[in-house]
Amino acid sequence: ISMASSEIEAALAATPDDAPTIFDKILKKEIPSTAVYEDDKVYAFRDVSPQAPTHILIIPKVKDGLLGLSKAEVRHIEILGHLLYTAKVIAKQEGLDDGFRIVINDGPAGCQSVYHLHIHLLGGRQMNWPPG
Ligand code: 5GP
Repeated sequence: ISMASSEIEAALAATPDDAPTIFDKILKKEIPSTAVYEDDKVYAFRDVSPQAPTHILIIPKVKDGLLGLSKAEVRHIEILGHLLYTAKVIAKQEGLDDGFRIVINDGPAGCQSVYHLHIHLLGGRQMNWPPG
C-alpha cells in the first residue's frame, strides 16, 4: 500500500468530532515528540511521517473547538495569526531561506486525519504544484 493511499485511508477513518486527539497526548508528553518551538500559546514538533526533509506541525496548546480551519470562529483569529507567524519564525530557524510550504488539511476531502487544527510546515526540497 502506498503512503498516499494510507494517508487517505487515515483521513477517511478519522472522526471529525471534538474528542481528544493524539495531539493532546503529545501536549501532555504522554507521547514523545521532537519539539522545535514552544511558547505560551503554541507548540511545534516534527511530523512522525515526514513528507519533506523539514516537516513540522504547529498546533495551538488549547484547542478551544478549533478542530480544523472550517470550524474557526471570530475568537480564533488571534491564535490563527499566531500559528501562521510561528510558521515563519520556524522556517527561519530551520534555514528554509529558499522557500517553504504551509498546508492546512481540512475535512475528509482535504485529507485531515487529526481533528486539532495544525499547520504543516514543509521544506528542504523543491515543492510541486498542483499538490496531490
Ligand atoms: P493531517 O493529515 O490531519 O493534516 O495531519 C496529521 C499529521 O499528524 C500527519 O502528517 C501525521 O503524520 C502526523 N502524526 C500523526 N500522529 C502523530 C504522532 O503521534 N506524532 C507525530 N509527531 N506526528 C503524528
